[in-house]
Amino acid sequence: MNTISEVRRLLTSRDISCRMLTERFLKAAEKENPTLSAYITLTRETALQCADGVDRKLQSGAALAPLEGIPFILKDNITTKGITTTCASRMLKNYVPLYDADVWERLKSQNTVLIGKGNMDEFAMGSTGETSYFGGAKNPHNTAHVAGGSSSGTASAVAGNIAVYGIGSDTGGSIRMPASFCGLVGLKPTYGAVSRRGLIAYGSSLDQIGPITTCVEDAALVFDTICIRDPADMTSRGSEPVSGQLKGVVKGMRLGIAREFYEGLTYDVHKALDQAVALYKKLGAVIVELDFPMLKYVLPVYYILACAEASSNLGRYDGLRYGHRASEYTDLDDFVCRTRSEGFGQEVRRRILLGTYVLSAGYCDAYYNKAQLLRQSIKNEFSKMFTRCDVLLTPTVPVTALPFGANMSPVELYQTDICTCSVNIAGLPAVSIPCGFAEKGLPIGMQLIGDKFHEAVILNAALAFERETAQAYLKTADMGVRL
Ligand code: GLN
Repeated sequence: MNTISEVRRLLTSRDISCRMLTERFLKAAEKENPTLSAYITLTRETALQCADGVDRKLQSGAALAPLEGIPFILKDNITTKGITTTCASRMLKNYVPLYDADVWERLKSQNTVLIGKGNMDEFAMGSTGETSYFGGAKNPHNTAHVAGGSSSGTASAVAGNIAVYGIGSDTGGSIRMPASFCGLVGLKPTYGAVSRRGLIAYGSSLDQIGPITTCVEDAALVFDTICIRDPADMTSRGSEPVSGQLKGVVKGMRLGIAREFYEGLTYDVHKALDQAVALYKKLGAVIVELDFPMLKYVLPVYYILACAEASSNLGRYDGLRYGHRASEYTDLDDFVCRTRSEGFGQEVRRRILLGTYVLSAGYCDAYYNKAQLLRQSIKNEFSKMFTRCDVLLTPTVPVTALPFGANMSPVELYQTDICTCSVNIAGLPAVSIPCGFAEKGLPIGMQLIGDKFHEAVILNAALAFERETAQAYLKTADMGVRL
């Protein structure tokens, strides 16, 4: 398993040059990608150019920035100037952005090495990665299973050792679910901690960018690099760095368990969560039993709001400005209609239709406005719970990674988001960390939710757990680069 600190140690001790390191990752990515479909685009030249710069710096004896020289994968809904950014959609298949996302600007200024752009569900809509126009990314722990959506490629590459860390985005669970399915750490920051400039919008009031890594310390390092206020994103306010605050001690910490989150879990997931609670008790955490009766409204509220915002955000893809264009049409209406029907996949079209419906005159009060009211009640219920506990412990997903083509209805798939999407509704931070394995070698994840801007609190609780269980649960797959 590769961690940022280990790779950094190899670089600074000059055991390996950054060019050699990058070559190894590129080669491994080229070899494994036909199987994993983790990358949509590999950025060989950009990577090597960056690596040479890092080597020059090392030769001059200058100190490296925290992520300098570390090979990583960036989800393909984050814009990269001059590098194709597809959103895994036919609509943007050939789209080359004219500007960099804030997050990419920050990472680039540290000379962290971009190996390529990560596969994902089309426009980040999905829970398995299978809605990608380029085909679903595979789970390196068992390639008959999905990597989880929507940041599927990011998780697949990190678990398959063809990137040291990755950047994903999370609207209703898209960082945490693939992290959980692939045995990784996935941090969804507080809404506003990280700039969304250059993140291709899905649900703007829910979207947030964050890291997927092999360990908690790495997640903290990446978070510290990207949690800066960006004047060009009026919803961003940045956050305190957390790395220096992690002690890995939970003695006296109040750990909340809301029983509603524990309904409908598979046997393996339930057992792993019970064991995790027992371990926290042993480490000195105080278990607090809580109720979260609003959980039954979370899925309808999320899917109404996310689809409503998506239908508005995706209105810009009309073929007139950029993106796919229909080649045969009769008039302007027909052109836009054909462009959108051809450019968007089935799930994206379904969400646009749903969103347009819940916003339409006559239905808006019954659906969209009601969902907004319930959103406030859900936020209030979380605030109440955080007066009684410091961290909430829940499963990340009620199941482990699904097999490809599981033949589930859209609603059944939406239900897999039950534990994650309330966090986005309330704008809270949450981290998914590995807590066991089920049959067929499939990892199980658990979720730690904190109050707003309490990233340090949840990562500290995560670190305490990881220190006790790393031997058993922190494992990447047997492929790719193992340093
Ligand atoms: N599965 C959820 C959805 O399809 C979440 C996706 C995400 O977080 N981007 O909307």
